[in-house]
Amino acid sequence: MLLFYTVLAMPADLEPAISRIASVNPATGEVLGELDCAGPTEVRAAVARARAAQPEWNGWGIRNRVKLLRRFQQLLLARKADIARRITHETGKPYVESLLTEVLVVLDATRFLAENAYPLLREEKLPHGNPALKAKSGRIVREPYGVIGIISPWNYPFSIPATEVMAALVAGNTVVLKPSEFTPLIALELQSLLREAGVPNDVFHVLPGEGAAGATLVKSEIDKLVFTGSVSTGRRIAQVAAETLLPVVLELGGKDPMVVLDDADIDVASSAAVWGAFVNAGQACLSVERCYIHQKLYARFVDACAEKTRKLRIGNGMDPATDIGPMISEQQVRIVEAHVADSQNHGARVLTGGGRLRELGPTFFAPTVLAEVNHNMRVMREETFGPILPIMSFRDEDEVVRLANDCDYGLAASVWTRDRNRGEAIARQIHAGTVMVNDVLSCFSISEAPHGGVKASGLGRTHGRWGLEEMVRVKYLDSDRLPRMKKIWWFGYSDDFAREMESFLDTIFARPWRVRVGAALRSAGALWRRKL
Ligand code: NAD
Repeated sequence: MLLFYTVLAMPADLEPAISRIASVNPATGEVLGELDCAGPTEVRAAVARARAAQPEWNGWGIRNRVKLLRRFQQLLLARKADIARRITHETGKPYVESLLTEVLVVLDATRFLAENAYPLLREEKLPHGNPALKAKSGRIVREPYGVIGIISPWNYPFSIPATEVMAALVAGNTVVLKPSEFTPLIALELQSLLREAGVPNDVFHVLPGEGAAGATLVKSEIDKLVFTGSVSTGRRIAQVAAETLLPVVLELGGKDPMVVLDDADIDVASSAAVWGAFVNAGQACLSVERCYIHQKLYARFVDACAEKTRKLRIGNGMDPATDIGPMISEQQVRIVEAHVADSQNHGARVLTGGGRLRELGPTFFAPTVLAEVNHNMRVMREETFGPILPIMSFRDEDEVVRLANDCDYGLAASVWTRDRNRGEAIARQIHAGTVMVNDVLSCFSISEAPHGGVKASGLGRTHGRWGLEEMVRVKYLDSDRLPRMKKIWWFGYSDDFAREMESFLDTIFARPWRVRVGAALRSAGALWRRKL
């Protein structure tokens, strides 16, 4: 186990070749399965098979692929409890979270794609406004890239890859997925379900492996990469992708602020802060990582958060009474410990929690509320990705907008107020891919909504029509309706032609109308001009 973590801590490019990974239940330490890692040969072979299968898969047409997604949806619905249990075993998250933040998200994304893939991806007429080009018929054709590589993390090991895989597949791509080394088994379940629904074997491949397998996939013959993970890995991938101009979507980390205004309902906002910071043991890209509360409400809000946090039940996610499970790994717990220690060294106060719950297991960490934090502390600047809720007070709206934007990340944010207009006005000033007024995290479950960030939180979008559009190249198809006619603007230029074209510009753009009519008459001669 120690060797396993040591290997993970090394930069992927320097990793020694390891041939097997273990999937471990973080709540119990039980080894759920051991798998061979895909090496360079397996990665290249999978990409080659996916490439060979892609033309036929594209030939199926969107409507046939949608039928298959509907079948997948019904299979998943029938197996919801089994899949949710498997997710809980591999990640430690409470069973009900596996149902709601993983299985439900995938069922609904399937619904969205089944309803919208055809209308969003079909050919579209492109009318021309320029009168000189009216004789041409324009169309937008959306073509699949070919083979999409997907690299995914462990924190939502089913919903993240499944939503991306389905969008890629329905658009006519084939897919090679490298899931996190912590959660390969649930990715293989996704593969089984899709194959049972009728997806041909070579159309979708799951390659278990550690970072090195991901690095090989990035350098392989894929046509686009959708990566979800940390900023540091995202940066490394972007550098490699730059060499071949491989298009990438990067869904990276976050440091989401929660802004609680002076008119907010303290009871509702404190419950939201506690859930938003501790759901999935704080290991959500959209977690509340920083909380700013108006100074007028600070003392009461902090007390409410601490009191509610003390009531949380920590344990095995399969126990129906559990609110919070273990963290995924020793490596993640160490980051959390370092952030808590750094904040204490700089004057923060731990109101509850603050350390491991070793009696439950090595990676259980007590949900922790920190008060008197500031922007000199790592916990307010770097992604913690653990069950920590740091709370800071602010004086006025200008200050809180400045604090919310004083951050390298820009994934999401939330604003809490009884006045929605006021909330939305602040939301518009916050630099983030999503800002929710009076809710946290649930945007990820809205299949219509785009998901993605600004600044270090990444590039591009998944989910909704924007996620689907990432899976296709836009081709402009132009067809001239007058094939026997030479174009007015071809060679054979002359002084007369220059004057006629001056008048032509006036014909289109001049005001008032009478100038345009005169100009049209003066430019008409160009129609009969001799061209080469
Ligand atoms: P990670 O970057 O360590 O790993 C992500 C994936 O990349 C894994 O499959 C890993 O094996 C692979 N990988 C590692 N090195 C690689 C390399 N050099 N080349 C190619 N692939 C490589 O991230 P993680 O710890 O699995 O996930 C947690 C991070 O993901 C957090 O920062 C979190 O915020 C972020 N995240 C973002 C989103 C989002 O939608 N924006 C969603 C979930 C998680």
